[in-house]
This record gives sequence, C-alpha cells and structure tokens, in this order.
Amino acid sequence: MKQKITYVSLESDASMHVSYEAALSGFERNFGHRYPLYIGGKGFEPAGDFAVRSPVDRDIIIGYFQEAGENEAHAAIRVAKEAFPAWSGTDPAERIGALRKAADLLERQVFDLAALITIEAGKTRSEAVAEVGEAVEMIRYYAAVYEKSDHFTVRMQPEAPGGVSLSTMRPHGVWVVISPFNFPLALAAGMASAALLTGNTVVMKPASATPLTGIRLYEAFIQGGVPAGAVNLITGPGAPFGEAVTSSPDVDGIAFTGSREVGMWLQRAFVVKQPYPKPFIAEMGSKNPCIVTDKADLDKAVEGVVRSAFGYGGQKCSATSRVYVHRDVAEAYARALIARTEELKVGDPRERDVSLGPLISEAAQKTYEAAVALALKDGGRVITGGGVCSEGSRARGYYVRPTIVAGLAQDHPLMRDELFVPLLCLRTFASLPEAVGLANETEFGLTAGIFSEDEGEVDYFFDHIRFGVCYANRQGGATTGAWPGRQSFGGWKASGSTGRGAGGPYYLFSYLREQAQTRL
Ligand code: GLU
Repeated sequence: MKQKITYVSLESDASMHVSYEAALSGFERNFGHRYPLYIGGKGFEPAGDFAVRSPVDRDIIIGYFQEAGENEAHAAIRVAKEAFPAWSGTDPAERIGALRKAADLLERQVFDLAALITIEAGKTRSEAVAEVGEAVEMIRYYAAVYEKSDHFTVRMQPEAPGGVSLSTMRPHGVWVVISPFNFPLALAAGMASAALLTGNTVVMKPASATPLTGIRLYEAFIQGGVPAGAVNLITGPGAPFGEAVTSSPDVDGIAFTGSREVGMWLQRAFVVKQPYPKPFIAEMGSKNPCIVTDKADLDKAVEGVVRSAFGYGGQKCSATSRVYVHRDVAEAYARALIARTEELKVGDPRERDVSLGPLISEAAQKTYEAAVALALKDGGRVITGGGVCSEGSRARGYYVRPTIVAGLAQDHPLMRDELFVPLLCLRTFASLPEAVGLANETEFGLTAGIFSEDEGEVDYFFDHIRFGVCYANRQGGATTGAWPGRQSFGGWKASGSTGRGAGGPYYLFSYLREQAQTRL
C-alpha cells in the first residue's frame, strides 16, 4: 500500500491539520520583527542586522536579526563562563526539571513551532510537526538517561577497607553549540540540552537561514528555568563567530552539526589556537547508500528510498543519495521508483498535499542545477526530474524536481560528494559483497540501508558495512528518520567525530569528563 511522505500522527488525526493550519494563518503577525542577541538574559542590538527571507516565498521577510561580530561572541562566552559555577553546582534534579519543563513548553507550542519551521526552513507540515516531536523527545530522553544513571557516578573498588572510590562525570564549562538550518529545532535542542543537563553553560549559534526557530528554543530554555547567562544566543555570520570561539581560552568545548568543510575548519582552528586539547563534537555530512538486493520486497524498497532521498528535498545528512540495485531486479525497481517519484507533488509546503517544499536557498538551487548539468555532460542518464519548478508561485521560492540519475561511474563527483539536494544516483551490482564494497567506498560514514527479505543478507550487511547508523527494510525511510531512544545517530569517518550518537545512551558522555574520587 502506498503512503504519502507524511507521518502517521498527521494521517491518523485530521484535527492536527486544523490546528496546524490555524497556527499558520495566525503566523503573519510574527513577520518582520527585529530580534536582538541574547546575552546574560538581556537583549542586545549592537550593530547592523540582516533580513531573513522565507525559502517558500522570497517576498516574506521573517525578521531582522543581529549581525554579531567577534566582540559580541566574546561577551556571550564571558557571561556563560560567569554562569558556570552556579549552574554546574545546581542540584542535577533541578537542572533535569528545568530541561523537562522546556520540553513541555515546546510540546505545547507544537503547531506554532511547526508553522515557523515550515516558513523558515521550508519543511512540509508532517516533517515540521515531526521535528518538534523529535526536539521534545530528545530533551526528555537525555533527561531520563542522566537521571537513571545517577548522573554517571559509579562505585569503584575501594583502595582500603572503609574507603570509598567513585568514578564520577563532571561538566567541562562553556560549550558553543552551532546548529544547522535543516533541523533548526531538533538538532539545536539536542546539543544544547545535552550540554545544559550535564551542568555546562552554553552559547548557541543557530544557522543564519533559521535564526527565529533558534530564538524560540532559547526562550523555552529560559522559561523552563535555565538561568539567564547559562544559555545565550548569538546570530550573524559564521566567520567572526568561528574566529572568536576557536580562539577564546574560555571556550571548553564545541558541538557542531553542519557541513564537513566548516566542521573541519573549526576543528583545525580549535586545535591550533587552544593551549590544550578540548572536546569537539561534530556531526557532518555524508553520502548515504542503500542496497536493494534481488531478495528485496521492491514495494518497500521503493517507498523507503523515495522518502529517504526526497523527504525535505534531500537536505538531511541522513538522506539516501546512492542506490545500488541487483542487476536482476534493476529494471523493475527503476520503473517503480520513477513512477513513485513522479507522484510527489512539489510546491508550497504550507499546502496539505505537498510532499516536497523548496530548497533552502538560491545557492542550493544552483548546486542542484549544476549537478544535473554535470550528470548529463558526463554521460549520466536523468531518468526522472532534472529541472527547476518555476511555474506560478513556485517562481518565488527555490523549487526543484526530485531527480534520479543512472549510469555514472562509482568515482564520479556526484556519487562521491554530498550535495544536499534531491538528486539520487542509481547503479547496479551483481553480488552482495560487491554492493557493500561499493557502499563503503566513501570517506563518509553516517547512514546506510538495505532492502532484503533474506536474514543472511541482512546479517552480512550489518557485519560489513562501515557506517554509524544502519537500517534494514525500513519502508518509512531507508536511511533517514532516526528517533531519540530508538536509534543513536552518530557518523563514522568524515561524518562524525565522537562515534557516540545523538539520541543514544552514550551521547551525554561527550559533554563530560571523568573524575576519580578516592576517600580513605
Ligand atoms: N536525524 C535526522 C535523520 O535521521 C537527520 C539529521 C541531519 O540531517 O542532520 O534523518
């Protein structure tokens, strides 16, 4: 049975559409306001500002945001440092309580936040509502892990009779949290709440395309009871901010989700400019493969790949961008994949039946156009899609057709580089070891999928694939849609720096350092 790219909650509960649509129609009064920086609980408007326009419709100005420079970044870091002794000394139960309250506040605003994410990031309603849910669950999951583990204090073997030896985990200090446009709420909420729960203080820097969602999250933290100064928020260009945070001796850790290029720049600068090694958590890009064997249920494999490759226009680091299909089923699979892809409606994501909204920016649209041109130049076959959608109101945003390309060589740039656009490459294989070998031939290592009804093949895949997040037979999204507490989401190799996934049981350790306590 075919389903649209939409989440069960919306499909099964029509009243949610009504609530979302009400939030959307009331949304216009929020447009065009001016927003400050938030340092120590106060709003600052130090310099010039920049306008953020909606990718859905460039005529919509979402708001004006401050262009912070290095001085403002240093001011926020200073305030976060001053707030650290009190916040890290606060009873962990109180910290957990504040974060849980923030999660409740986000949950209560689910439709307003989803409407904002639609307008600011261009997500369809189902993806936007799901993202708010993910942010809420991420905070609650970390709170539960931290609480249940007794804050990671473990009794060790005493050194002498009557003595006590403990291993305990302590916060580092000030964490800078740099979050991307594609999950403007969930990823910022995950990184910032992990740092705050564990007693660190935070300077948040949302992506310049989606600052308002970041500000709404900041407000929920403050209203939940995180003290002013323990969490701060800076907006503006990446370069001066990056300069300040990598060089400030008062920054104790950086948590970053974004491109490999920026992540590697930050990590190198952080190593070079700091007096000693400091933790750096990076979730970066990927080039995610999915394998469809001759023992696959092809309907499942079509649905899973279409959702994964084209959900949110491929703008997820988990998106499927390479499909390897067994040559015996390749023709039938390609035919069904094309037919399903052509059913997707590209358009204004505020509309109910749209499966695919706009790309985030003109630059992304250009990347898409250049990729299609390159595929054709190098002998690839564009078997569906391959163009910009500019009819009617779609001319006011960055709309493109979901595209599948066949016939490119394994080492072609489009098979190798992350594009963050809805372009899927298709190749055939003759044996599973060959397919897994091809899937692994990448510097990235975030998500990978397989469709096969044969348990032996699935076992082989899990044993030999070199990716951090692996799925078998997932119709709801071959490689996307990790959920807190169900999948830990962490990349290997060029996709991530810690090997401990977000939303997983070990994630909080990345924000902590161990202290051995021996009493005699
Ligand atoms: N957690 C999301 C997923 O599993 C992806 C996050 C990202 O793109 O950074 O689809």
